[in-house]
Amino acid sequence: MSRVFNFSAGPSCLPEEVLKECAAEMLDYQGSGQSVMEMSHRSSVFKPIIEHAEAQVRKLMKVPENYKILFLQGGGSTQFAMVAENLGIKTGKAAYIETGVWAKKAAAEAKALGVQVDVIASSADKNYSYIPRVEKITGDYDYAYICFNNTIMGTHYEYIPDTGNIPLVADISSCVLSEELDVSKFGLLFAGAQKNLAPAGVTLVIIREDLITDTPRAGTPTMLTYKTHADKESMYNTPPCYTIYVLGKVLDWIERNGGVQGIHARNVEKAELLYNYLDTTPYYHATAEKGSRSLMNVPFLTKETDPEKAKEINNTFVKEAAAAGLVNLAGHRLVGGMRASIYNAMTIDGVKALIAFMEKFAKEHF
Ligand SMILES: *Cc1c(COP(=O)(O)O)cnc(C)c1O
Repeated sequence: MSRVFNFSAGPSCLPEEVLKECAAEMLDYQGSGQSVMEMSHRSSVFKPIIEHAEAQVRKLMKVPENYKILFLQGGGSTQFAMVAENLGIKTGKAAYIETGVWAKKAAAEAKALGVQVDVIASSADKNYSYIPRVEKITGDYDYAYICFNNTIMGTHYEYIPDTGNIPLVADISSCVLSEELDVSKFGLLFAGAQKNLAPAGVTLVIIREDLITDTPRAGTPTMLTYKTHADKESMYNTPPCYTIYVLGKVLDWIERNGGVQGIHARNVEKAELLYNYLDTTPYYHATAEKGSRSLMNVPFLTKETDPEKAKEINNTFVKEAAAAGLVNLAGHRLVGGMRASIYNAMTIDGVKALIAFMEKFAKEHF
């Protein structure tokens, strides 16, 4: 068996130890004679699995008592609507900071649902290559919304805007558990699992209890009401059982590796290796500005400036990298070039192998 180094932006690599544990338990989970895929979500075997996942989220993220942890479906994208439907209910106004595709989609969804969206800052002027500095947000907003790590642009907030009494909502899909985060600064956090938590299929939502309303905007479906799920401990309907089981294992793996602090230190080491290389080599450069750079997603361009030639060299890079066992390095079309996603499960060896390949490729092609 040979495994590749997988730099996919999502779904992305999972810790090998976790995959092995899942494989070992596939046919017979702890003497139950069934796989976790097959068992009833109401069974006494499954109950401890979901309780464990929730307890581990609470412990590792230091989630305060007055927050609910929910395991939902529909991915990060469904949260764009749920946030608006459930939080945009007093003045019907919300502040959004526009930092790229995901923040824009969230704002567009809120607008489509009738929320008055104020885009209070944007980095569109420089193709979203930085995070605007908004120290303080004031106004009669029901909530303020940010995308904390911009997966496509490779940018990340190095500060948390002060919103006073306005609940701050953050999409942490691509940076959850990559660094320590003070949950109490937020009203609501959400993350689709397939970047840093588990296979696709579950969305983690952490919501302050006072924001769980039984009067969402008119017409909100039952399934898109947080209260539905909060009242039933994420078991109103069938939850994504297997994904929650893997999530529990990924959280155990994080705990074994020094908790969030330990994982963060390793993430810093990986990102520094790659950015240091990009900042010093004449052949490549990072697209995200210093001071706004993501630890998780690193888009980069080659020195080739002619658009047609650049396209060609990028294609060759991606193809030759894949042949060398470094896969999913194609950049997003909005940024071009390449993108290396180096989530929690990416090893330091993987990043070193990428840098060695980049150097070799440059010698051969530039
Ligand atoms: C991937 C991603 C999404 C979309 O997630 P889905 O689960 O595919 O809906 C939203 N926000 C961010 C920051 C992402 O990286």
